[in-house]
Amino acid sequence: MARPVKDLPKDRIADPDALFALCDRLYPICRSITGPGVRETLAVIQESIELSIIEVPSGTPVFDWTVPLEWTLREAWVEDPSGTRVIDVADHNLHVVSYSTPVDMTLSREALEAHLHSLPEQPDAIPYRTSYYAETWGFCVSHERRTQLPKGTYRVHIDATLAPGSMSYGECFIPGTSGKEILVSTHICHPSLANDNLSGISVATHLAKHFANAGELRHGMRFVFVPGTIGAITWLAQNEDLIPNIISGLVLSGIGDSGPLTYKRSRRGDGLIDRLFEHHLAALPNANIRPFIPYGYDERQYCSPGIDISAGCLMRTPYGEYPEYHSSGDNLAFINAASLAESAEVCARVLQDAQCVDRYRNLQPKCEPQLGRRGLYDNVGGENQSKDAQLALLWMLSYSDGHHSTLDIQQLSGIDLTALNHAAERLIASDLLALEPFGAI
Ligand code: ZN
Repeated sequence: MARPVKDLPKDRIADPDALFALCDRLYPICRSITGPGVRETLAVIQESIELSIIEVPSGTPVFDWTVPLEWTLREAWVEDPSGTRVIDVADHNLHVVSYSTPVDMTLSREALEAHLHSLPEQPDAIPYRTSYYAETWGFCVSHERRTQLPKGTYRVHIDATLAPGSMSYGECFIPGTSGKEILVSTHICHPSLANDNLSGISVATHLAKHFANAGELRHGMRFVFVPGTIGAITWLAQNEDLIPNIISGLVLSGIGDSGPLTYKRSRRGDGLIDRLFEHHLAALPNANIRPFIPYGYDERQYCSPGIDISAGCLMRTPYGEYPEYHSSGDNLAFINAASLAESAEVCARVLQDAQCVDRYRNLQPKCEPQLGRRGLYDNVGGENQSKDAQLALLWMLSYSDGHHSTLDIQQLSGIDLTALNHAAERLIASDLLALEPFGAI
């Protein structure tokens, strides 16, 4: 009974143009895992949602890692033997290897070669390279430009600071009544790359805005905007007390390109979000579901055995499977408003359903309770609508044994969660059903 996405309600969670506009606004910012670009990005997100910005000092131990030094880049360029700037980060943020150490020297064309990165198979594209955990410097350039650089003496200049400071991340928590919560995480550390991951930032921001205005939530929704890997590890290390309350999680990454939606399951494979994506993506002919592998985005951290949140990852074309990945080809022309909007709608549906999944207990479990005397059974019958409603009552009574959740009943019966929840409300009002204390679903 999967609902096709074309049947989505008219009141979309976000205007496609607004989703694209946020990517467009954030695209020029020079981000890394720390530094002013991340803060500027978080400040822009904060214009739309109530975002707490947390600063974690460099050197803070976080599980097996340490929060790194803060990187601040001012200038980075290469001058050829004639004094012409042939590579300049002012032209494109990808031109410098992220976390490059400061340098100001002259060197030969041959010596420069070891510090250049290009993509021979894509001669027009500038690659994206980082060196977070090894001290070095480098420049990224199109292969075409690289092969044209003449022999002679070059000057390289990187005006950057790599010094104790802090790592910034953002968090938006929308409380619910159950004391449990659902985690949505996206990385914010890539400079001038649109799909990876301005798409995730934009969709997460608009989802947070939507759920903040959605009225009372049963389960809290926690949106975290973190630098990739180290940010997720830091968040987990600093919030271990919250982990037992997290029912399930979702990592958003690369959801703005025109490829079909791809959901990567959590390590457990059958968590709440896994099952809901399985249900919702069944309606999309090209959508894919992939098993967990311990490589990819921050689901690796959330799913690690000592944390064990059932967090999956939503993508469109998976990372590394499109030539524009981690290069200047992943620009604003590579993403589009319609794909962003479809990704946002599917996420909203999944997260909305995650709010509605519960377990109940039938309070009259010995044989069927007499529905007619409680006004729950249509003695005249005939109308399909009322038959459906009665069937929903019967499914709820039959499987509300304390073990089956409404998601289980949905999958067994084909009746959607809204109808099952409506049936549950009617049965509760007649003292035939009680909500079970929330447990693992
Ligand atoms: Zn990436």
